[in-house]
Amino acid sequence: MLRILYAVLLGLGTLGMLCFDRPTPCLLTSQVLLPTKVLITTPGDRLVPSFGVPTAARSNPVAPSPSVLATQESDQRTDAVGLLDPNTRSAGQPGTVREDPLGILQGQIDNKKIYDAFVAAGQGIINEKRGLDVAAIQQSVRRPARSNLLCPASSVGDDSFGFENVAKSSLLFGTLYDCGKCEEMHGNIAGGVVVSDDGLCLTNHHVLERRDEDTRVIFAMDYTGRGYAIQEVLAANRMADVALVRLQGTGPFYPAPIATNSPLPNTPAFVLSHPSSEFFVLTQGVVSRHVTLTQRRGKSTWLEVTAPFGAGSSGSGVFDDRGRLIGLVSRISPIFRGAEQIAPPAEGEEPRLRSIPYAELILRRCVTTKAIRECFREEDLDSNKAEQ
Ligand SMILES: [Zn+2]
Repeated sequence: MLRILYAVLLGLGTLGMLCFDRPTPCLLTSQVLLPTKVLITTPGDRLVPSFGVPTAARSNPVAPSPSVLATQESDQRTDAVGLLDPNTRSAGQPGTVREDPLGILQGQIDNKKIYDAFVAAGQGIINEKRGLDVAAIQQSVRRPARSNLLCPASSVGDDSFGFENVAKSSLLFGTLYDCGKCEEMHGNIAGGVVVSDDGLCLTNHHVLERRDEDTRVIFAMDYTGRGYAIQEVLAANRMADVALVRLQGTGPFYPAPIATNSPLPNTPAFVLSHPSSEFFVLTQGVVSRHVTLTQRRGKSTWLEVTAPFGAGSSGSGVFDDRGRLIGLVSRISPIFRGAEQIAPPAEGEEPRLRSIPYAELILRRCVTTKAIRECFREEDLDSNKAEQ
């Protein structure tokens, strides 16, 4: 642990980043998803080989559930989805069935139920061999940063932050892996955001890349427990840590409107994410700044917010107070400092002073609005005008 801390201190100059192995608790870490190795990047070093705060397996992932449970959950999920009536898709309208089998829209979160639904959804995709496999996705993350699709129009009527809309557009986005030691698949879960009603979604580049051999599937699940394989990776920008993906299937999808302009400092910022398999955690803060970092590989620009997030929050949406998507969680960069403390003496030793590093401030870096919009075809000024 101390070795890791020391390395963090070394790495802090520009983008102090590290990723922990899955079972490692990540109290001090930097980025926000699924890494698989302890990986430290020092200033000026190659740019972050693996972004991401790992989903620390504090609760369920390390404790595989018995297969019986998984089956029950999967049945339950099927039942829940069975409630769906294609004519009542606009959940929330009077007289329609409100589709909320996992309790998420009411903010009644059962972590294990959601985790089990995720595993069941991924297992279904594996069984039916739907969508791109892991190797194909690894190829796809080398795609150009821009797709040739138009950015979905950001026509929002709402003038306030609607939790329900934000929750419906928010995805669990991650992998199932086979530990090789038991019969179960395990989830490694980050986030994503739906941005069009035909299944386009955004997540972090680092959520898609560098999967280990034990990774069996990369996919998304929505708030109802519906699983979606990845049909296509349309744009991938490693420096900005964003990827545009088309999900396979017909939805229904509930897109979040993408903000047209970059938010100014002090704009309210909400994050709805899944740190450490704690699902749908809503936090609030403000936009702190846009910061440009210079590294050997080039410059990168980030949207910093004060809304808390942590390991597993990667790829989740950052929203303004009208529910518009202004960014995606990407990483944290703790600023460390040493505190002198008396170390508990070992037997036969004298007490001595030692310096305990602690995170004095945590910078919370997100994919910028601009980088999100740059996943789409270059906009001409006329279409911009039409949106305003
Ligand atoms: Zn296992």
